[in-house]
Amino acid sequence: MQRITNRAVEINRNPMTFGEKLYVPAILKGLSITLSHIVKKKATVSYPEKKRPFSPVFRGLHVLNRDEEGRERCTACGLCAVACPAEAITMEAAERKAGEENLYREEKYAAKYEINMLRCIFCGLCEEACPKDAIYMSETVMPANYTRQGMIYKKTDLLIPHPKKVNAN
Ligand code: SF4
Ligand code: SF4
Repeated sequence: MQRITNRAVEINRNPMTFGEKLYVPAILKGLSITLSHIVKKKATVSYPEKKRPFSPVFRGLHVLNRDEEGRERCTACGLCAVACPAEAITMEAAERKAGEENLYREEKYAAKYEINMLRCIFCGLCEEACPKDAIYMSETVMPANYTRQGMIYKKTDLLIPHPKKVNAN
């Protein structure tokens, strides 16, 4: 029979020998494997007290960015939504009104911005597509949620806190 990979192991279908029928050697062999792990380096960590270092290319939860004056960077151009292979991003654009220059950097802004984390595959294409440096992926691990609705992150969940409000606290 032709093998597809070199990982296939042929099964021994010969009748069991007297030694195999005793089972004791097999039990001792199993125990020796278990005991050998006592002296091996531990592979587990006591999470959440201890955490493993992230990979340098780890991509966590999205953050909507502000500029140095605290204004929202996103101009609702939709490029991130177009680039998203999972169609996880939806938004609604709005025109900036007079007097709102301190809130939104561009003349257009995202009145609504949502990411469906149940769809997201954390590929980072939205971050790459954004011409305004408005969205980036943080090192925060996506928390679990019990409801589908809780996995749809709204603009208020994604927007980075205003620097002046953070400093005031
Ligand atoms: S990380 Fe990828 S899948 Fe998730 S929202 Fe961005 S582009 Fe879409
Ligand atoms: S996050 Fe960036 S790419 Fe997405 S709509 Fe806003 S400005 Fe455009």
